[in-house]
Amino acid sequence: MSVAYLEKLNEAQRRAVEHGSDVPKGGPAGPLLVIAGAGSGKTNTLAHRVAHLIVSGADPRRILLMTFSRRAASEMGRRVERICSQVLGPNSAIMTDALAWAGTFHGIGARILRMHADQIGLDPDFTIHDREDSADLMNLVRHELGFSKTESRFPTKGTCLAIYSRAVNSETPLDEVLKLNFPWCSAWEKQLRELFATYVEAKQAQNVLDYDDLLLYWAQMMSDPILAGEVGGRFDHVLVDEYQDTNRLQSSILMAMKPGGRGLTVVGDDAQSIYSFRAATIRNILDFPNSFDPPADIVTLDRNYRSTNTILAAANGVIDLARERFTKNLWTDRQSEERPRLVAVRDENEQANYIVEKILENRETGMTLKQQAVLFRASHHSGPLEVELTRRNIPFVKYGGLKFLDSAHVKDMLAALRFAQNPRDRVAGFRLMQLVPGIGPQTAGKILDAIAADPEPLAALQEIPAPPRSGADWPAFVDMLGAVRGGDGWPSEIGLARQWYEPHLARIHEDAETRKADLLQLEQIAGGYASRERFLTELTLDPPDATSAESGTPLLDEDYLTLSTIHSAKGQEWRSVFLLNCVDGCIPSDLGVGSTAEVEEERRLLYVAMTRAKDYLHLITPQRFFVHGQASQGDRHVYAARSRFIPATLLQFFETASWPVVAPATAAGRQTRQIRVDVGARMRGMWR
Ligand code: ATP
Ligand code: MG
Repeated sequence: MSVAYLEKLNEAQRRAVEHGSDVPKGGPAGPLLVIAGAGSGKTNTLAHRVAHLIVSGADPRRILLMTFSRRAASEMGRRVERICSQVLGPNSAIMTDALAWAGTFHGIGARILRMHADQIGLDPDFTIHDREDSADLMNLVRHELGFSKTESRFPTKGTCLAIYSRAVNSETPLDEVLKLNFPWCSAWEKQLRELFATYVEAKQAQNVLDYDDLLLYWAQMMSDPILAGEVGGRFDHVLVDEYQDTNRLQSSILMAMKPGGRGLTVVGDDAQSIYSFRAATIRNILDFPNSFDPPADIVTLDRNYRSTNTILAAANGVIDLARERFTKNLWTDRQSEERPRLVAVRDENEQANYIVEKILENRETGMTLKQQAVLFRASHHSGPLEVELTRRNIPFVKYGGLKFLDSAHVKDMLAALRFAQNPRDRVAGFRLMQLVPGIGPQTAGKILDAIAADPEPLAALQEIPAPPRSGADWPAFVDMLGAVRGGDGWPSEIGLARQWYEPHLARIHEDAETRKADLLQLEQIAGGYASRERFLTELTLDPPDATSAESGTPLLDEDYLTLSTIHSAKGQEWRSVFLLNCVDGCIPSDLGVGSTAEVEEERRLLYVAMTRAKDYLHLITPQRFFVHGQASQGDRHVYAARSRFIPATLLQFFETASWPVVAPATAAGRQTRQIRVDVGARMRGMWR
């Protein structure tokens, strides 16, 4: 058997890949932890490990692989397939079912819950609420209980949901969560308790699960030893990437599936833990080895293969000052003369200009757009850049932040599918019925009440007389639901929903034509899924990303630039990385400086961002920001200081300045020039 794929690995990686190879037929070995810094090949090692297991005889259908995003899972699937086919030949029968169980924790949870629904008293037709739906339902309940009216300073729906989610995911009592994370809401503890209890009842009555429920129900289910054995027994190997960003529920699920740790491999880097705001805890990864008896084997990796020495030195300069850290600094043999750049620009417009110029320059030298990325702390930071890219016809895809699915018309379509599947889903029902002329929130509420108690809610809906002023639109609506539910099956039913929706779309939106194009795109996406449930589940949990509206969706084989929040850039790499707004207030975010722990997390975020770069890294610091002011102040500029985390001595300084207006007429708009500046004095003068 060819082992060429093993020879490409270093000694430690190979140890991780071959861990347990003495167990016959790729059977489960003892627990394994791979813990190491960024770019050291953790994900690559995990892919090789999966391939190695398959090549050694493990059944790919009995391997569960959990990654941080669906994109990461399919990327991993492709890598595994590539390695296996080199060894087993491209047409090997084993590969046809390869990695049927690769996905995110939430996606896998949804599948497992549907499979075992009847054993845990769940209707398998349950629908899933995304964060916005959940906030809507929370709001509905809040109104029903009268909290929003009588208690004018009651926390907003978003805050309520955040508190609820934190308590659930960290398995922490409400009073503690309030004290620790939301002290300004402590006065409402009694009302919040009632609100959450009613919210949970509402979800159950409506047969909907929110994101947190997917983990919560799954964990609950695993507390039954028979069910835990059944689910755990389905898999010989369970492997998890980015383990530092899992929460307590997720680790308890893993431990229940594989109590002795046999067949369990987890991989991560505590220095990259950036999801504690969703209750992720680095205790999971630090405590992993001793959760078992005998303890798990640990493999650490110390060589970085991704970045040049100067980029790595700068990133290490950021993380060296972290208070708590397990993984050690890495080394690399990729030498570079050039340090990462710290570029001072006047404002966000100049920042956008600078980046576009550099990106085009890079492209001239043969670096494709796909090899470049622009990262930012918050999704709205990229606004001016998106405008500039669109104006210059540079195609881009944006990850994180506003998604394709957040647009009203796409949500309407999904509501139609969701409501057909589960007519008790009140948020979907409300949204949909109000599209029918003559039906307002009150009528919609009454109709939903009327059908909720019926064991056959869809049939009950068909019996309801047409509401006044709804005319022929009511029977059209009811017929559509019946047709979707009982029609020709997936994916043709989505076409039926669209035909019903299009006249409404034309009535509601002026730009109906562009929106229709989105719906066709949605239909195309739908074609890639096996069933309505899979489509709705996967899309709700991990939606496709926003693309540049003007240039349309870049095709996969087309060249495009990546724009991404730092959170969504996890695990990825590009030859050239630009980091926007490296100023205090953006990173660390204004919202993230409440406690030392929060500031530390912001530091790790910067580390994650910087370690995405292979060859070139630009940290950009606009000097001032334009703020749309409140009435009293009007619009104004605010001045920002360079991010406190930036390891100045490890960077090279640049300043761009706008040319005065006397620039020759041939010059295309504003030009930028670069001036080497005297490091310390000049920057201090500019920022302080
Ligand atoms: P992160 O912490 O950012 O998730 P990681 O530790 O998962 O990073 P990978 O993404 O697996 O690192 O690998 C980083 C880069 O190093 C990739 O381009 C990968 O192909 C390369 N690489 C990993 N191991 C080796 C190796 N043994 N030889 C050559 N290149 C390698
Ligand atoms: Mg990785």
